[in-house]
Amino acid sequence: MSASPENAPRPQTPATAIPALPMADAAPAVPFIEIEALRAEQFIPAAKEALGAMIAEQGRDKLTRPIFNWAGRNSLFPLHWGLACCAIEFAAAFGARWDAERFGVVPRSSPRQCDLMIVNGTVTWKVAHKLVTLYEQMPEPKWVIAMGNCATGGGPFRTAYSVVPGVDKLVPVDLYIAGCPPRPEAMLDGILKLEQLIRERKE
Ligand code: SF4
Repeated sequence: MSASPENAPRPQTPATAIPALPMADAAPAVPFIEIEALRAEQFIPAAKEALGAMIAEQGRDKLTRPIFNWAGRNSLFPLHWGLACCAIEFAAAFGARWDAERFGVVPRSSPRQCDLMIVNGTVTWKVAHKLVTLYEQMPEPKWVIAMGNCATGGGPFRTAYSVVPGVDKLVPVDLYIAGCPPRPEAMLDGILKLEQLIRERKE
């Protein structure tokens, strides 16, 4: 009986040797003396330079920081917005009669250029998230004045389902101005009191 082509033994393929991977060259040991020389030549001068720059910067900051703080607290930029009738008094304070800008108080329309939020009217739950968004968009350091009875505690509408009973439920308030509405003189007085508060807090 002859073997069928299927059953015929297959020719053995010669085993091929897997070429050995070249071994990574072992890093030559750096003599200790060279490390010391490198340290003395490069690391120590660089560290000295960085330390000197840091001390100079801290010194500059110590000298200039009080000047920046003084300039900042004497030029508060309130957000240019209005919520209700108190906003009319807010607007009047910037007119020719009271001229709030002589205190360096300049309303800005972008919250990113403001450091003071004057909440001047009734805050409803509908507008609450927008108020918080505007506050979050203001850069630090920032302050909040609750102007009038509505912003302070809901005012005549504090029992209404739609009114926030005080804006301190939403954002941290630094100063309250009483009145319904407070007159522009009261708003200016509030701003001067806030400047005093900032000075006392050393912010
Ligand atoms: S406190 Fe009085 S004036 Fe001011 S928003 Fe409320 S109701 Fe209007």
